[in-house]
Amino acid sequence: MGTIVCQECNTTIGHIEVEKVTTFYGKCDHHECNEVVKKLQAEVD
Ligand SMILES: [Zn+2]
Repeated sequence: MGTIVCQECNTTIGHIEVEKVTTFYGKCDHHECNEVVKKLQAEVD
């Protein structure tokens, strides 16, 4: 399982389904956060 963490405040933004335990970084305070999750999920699908 991949965990998406805000690179600025370490808040857990969400999770994506990947085989390895991986940490991804995003930004919780910006609307791009959701886009980051979609983009990452699209890459592993
Ligand atoms: Zn944040």
